[in-house]
Amino acid sequence: MTATATTPVNTAAPRGGAPMLELRGICKRFPGVVANDHVDFDVTAGEVHTLFGENGAGKSTLMRVLYGLYRPEEGEIRIDGEPVSITSPAVAIAHRIGMIHQHFMLVNTLTVAENVALGLRRAVTLTDLSTVSRRIEELSERYGLRVDPSATVWQLSVGERQRVEIIKALYRDAKLLILDEPTAVLTPQEVDDLFVVLRQMVDDGRGLVFISHKIREVLALSDRITVLRAGRKVATVTPAEVTRHTLAEMMVGHELPATEPVGAHAAGEARLAVRGLHVRGDRGVEAVRGLDLEVRSGEIVGIAGVSGNGQRELAEALAGLRPVVSGSAVLEGHELAGLHPAEIRAAGLGYVPEERMRDGVVADFSVGENLLLIDNGAAQFCRFGFLRPGAIERHCNELVRAFDVKTPSLDTPARNLSGGNIQKLILARELSAKPRVLLAAQPTRGVDVGAAAYIHERLREQRDAGTAIVVVSEDLDEVLTLSDRILVMYEGEIISEVDPGTSTREALGLMMAGVRAA
Ligand code: ADP
Ligand code: MG
Repeated sequence: MTATATTPVNTAAPRGGAPMLELRGICKRFPGVVANDHVDFDVTAGEVHTLFGENGAGKSTLMRVLYGLYRPEEGEIRIDGEPVSITSPAVAIAHRIGMIHQHFMLVNTLTVAENVALGLRRAVTLTDLSTVSRRIEELSERYGLRVDPSATVWQLSVGERQRVEIIKALYRDAKLLILDEPTAVLTPQEVDDLFVVLRQMVDDGRGLVFISHKIREVLALSDRITVLRAGRKVATVTPAEVTRHTLAEMMVGHELPATEPVGAHAAGEARLAVRGLHVRGDRGVEAVRGLDLEVRSGEIVGIAGVSGNGQRELAEALAGLRPVVSGSAVLEGHELAGLHPAEIRAAGLGYVPEERMRDGVVADFSVGENLLLIDNGAAQFCRFGFLRPGAIERHCNELVRAFDVKTPSLDTPARNLSGGNIQKLILARELSAKPRVLLAAQPTRGVDVGAAAYIHERLREQRDAGTAIVVVSEDLDEVLTLSDRILVMYEGEIISEVDPGTSTREALGLMMAGVRAA
């Protein structure tokens, strides 16, 4: 990301009255990165002021400074006009600031009421608990925050846990609430419900800081929006002053170049055709929503997207690890929907999974055994421990050499290998089965630079040999350098196709945020 020096513009004035909170010139550095670079931000009672920006823009850091989790190197915090020193979350709470974190901070084995009581200073007695429960019921009624005070936290859904966190903050009578990406874990319906609750809280005169990188939500909920980019404040605007497009441009710091969809690609025949695919995520919500996709021999198709837009579910469904709800995926005439992983392999799909330790290897098995985990047509390869003819050992040694897997021996347990070497092992095994289509999910995540380059080289080589390759990746640079075509996945659908030759990181980033190509 180019850190273009943009003069902050301040077109939006607070809705009314003096701000309840002001952050002035906040600077927070971490080794090698300036997370907040002289950031100004304020909140007025009765408004939702959103912090908007890409991952890594510095949103969470700014709010952690405000909540006393980080000490800034420079800058000042004022509450109701008075400078304050917020040295810990306890001090923040005393100033009636509440923060709902991205990861909830509840004790799973306690009830809702006990969790709320835990945050209070005094020791809790049984009578207190019934008072706490009654107050929870009142708050829950008043704001439409449905929770049962006597439920144990582990029984609750993610949405319910979030409501408990909000009730905790309201119980302490927080007048300023910070919600760090609260919608990331919610279903669309839960998001709508949450927004109703949040609006009611600001109508009651509280101030709210909402953190998000989802343009549509931000425009729907905010009174004001402050855009952060690479640690700096870019602008503070009202939703009326921007469009999805201009807001996205502020986030990435560039104009959106026209991206022409690529026509017919110079690849070979179609190998994999996915039509109208629907797949559910872990929580039963539809994660892939009517997706179409075609991959041809001799091309690498990159699927780009922000984590959580259905990429994982798509890959798992194609590999047979997750049921297909409806739609089809046809690999050279074989319908894959409904087949077991082994049958899908037999039909010609190679799979490099995202969760390599869980789905890619058996950690306690040796390198040799892991290389033989799939039946390459020779029945004896499956009988681990019974016979290991010299032929098998030679085959494994060749793979280890060809794919540069650094291991002391074939007998070393896979768990002892580094991430990069495990990934090379998986790739060696999958490619040795000569797949017609290779599906690689996050193939170089957490892998060192050398191994990543090696893996890319092997994928290109395989493409040149005619294999149809699908790479699912959240790494923009990987997608741009590796793909012949890029498909952008957003909320369970492919929303645009991009030619990596003419596209920029910024344009791709915009589309990943949900802006469709013209
Ligand atoms: P956002 O919430 O906008 O995604 P963050 O505030 O989490 O961004 O991060 C801003 C930058 O600071 C990133 O480059 C991130 O890697 C870095 N960063 C955040 N927290 C820490 C930390 N505790 N230690 C080191 N670097 C951090
Ligand atoms: Mg964050």
